[in-house]
Amino acid sequence: MNVIECDESTLKGYVVIYKTYGQTGLKVSAVGFGGMRFDIKQSKEKNAEILRYAVDQGINYLDTAPMYCEDQSEDIFGIAIKQMAAQREDFYVSTKGMPEDFDTADKAIGHVDKSLKLLNTDTIDFYHVWCVRRWSEYELAMKPGGQYDGLLKCKEQGKIKHIVVSTHLRGPEVGDLISKDEFEGVLLGVNILNFLYRWEGVQAAHKAGLGVVAMNPLAGGIIPQNEQSLAFLADEGETPTEAALRFCISCPQITITLNGFTTKEHVDMACKIADKAEPFTDEDIKRIRGHITNNMDALCTGCGYCMGRCPVDIPISNFMQYYNEKLLTNKTEREMIEHLGFQRKWLLLADSKEKAADCVQCGRCEMACTQHLDIIKRLEKISEWEKSLENSKQKG
Ligand code: SF4
Ligand code: SF4
Repeated sequence: MNVIECDESTLKGYVVIYKTYGQTGLKVSAVGFGGMRFDIKQSKEKNAEILRYAVDQGINYLDTAPMYCEDQSEDIFGIAIKQMAAQREDFYVSTKGMPEDFDTADKAIGHVDKSLKLLNTDTIDFYHVWCVRRWSEYELAMKPGGQYDGLLKCKEQGKIKHIVVSTHLRGPEVGDLISKDEFEGVLLGVNILNFLYRWEGVQAAHKAGLGVVAMNPLAGGIIPQNEQSLAFLADEGETPTEAALRFCISCPQITITLNGFTTKEHVDMACKIADKAEPFTDEDIKRIRGHITNNMDALCTGCGYCMGRCPVDIPISNFMQYYNEKLLTNKTEREMIEHLGFQRKWLLLADSKEKAADCVQCGRCEMACTQHLDIIKRLEKISEWEKSLENSKQKG
């Protein structure tokens, strides 16, 4: 990879790196604030403080969405934005709407109006056609009189400045999605574990002059939770988590790396990493490439988009995160069965009575999955392990 091309300015002791967002000409911070990890046990005002703190550190790209943090994220943003009204020109606000929820221009406009109100702002700088997982969702957004037409009207009226898209399509399809000049930027799930499989999309967007925003730089928490088995990611003196953030932040093709901040310390950590922003060398990439297997693109990120859809209430995300262990650490069948017992007793599956074997294979979860996982097949495998675990318990 090449050395990062960027502007820097020193602020509060950090060297803040800014990059140009595609062809908009806007200078945005390489570290973006992802509003999906607020601690909602604390007050909205307390959470708004973290947002203000991030802006004070020079972070100027603030990303939220309806439904984040049990639908409280836009509210929290609204509180912080009101408090920062005098410096509204200093940061950019981004939010989103899904084509399947707002499938007419009127619904899309109504939703933008709702977000403007919640966010306490007259204009949304970046508005995403959100979560395009399949081509049919793109077509739904673009149909005449659909969401995109509504967003164009909002743009004419100044309610939105830039229409962008967030997608979980595979690399080659991302190229098709952006080839029609409809969007000024793209938000993609790319990180140090899956970059081999997502890179085509990143390259295509960068080449086409779009802003490229990386979500999920820590693979939905997989990297911090598995630092031991992912030690190969890191350079001397850094943790795999730090390496993963540095990977996206320093990458010339990625404009912004969204970080889901819960505390001011998280903000500091990301700023410190951006401060160094040492890009990965070709040698580093070769080393990592040698460790990464096909499995790395098939991990559940815990994004939760499958939740609430299962007719028999299977905690799908928890089961899939348990299955991640197999892919990450190549556990044997016996080890997976033992681990299932541990999960059932203490961890992710401790609270659930539902079994993998309860799946009626309706396919709703697979339709929703942002990672395109073969959930039904995995549940079948897990149900075999459930049976073995039961048998071994009965034998005593
Ligand atoms: S396929 Fe199985 S796990 Fe998925 S939603 Fe249907 S019943 Fe639930
Ligand atoms: S199974 Fe898919 S949709 Fe559900 S949490 Fe995992 S990655 Fe997200």
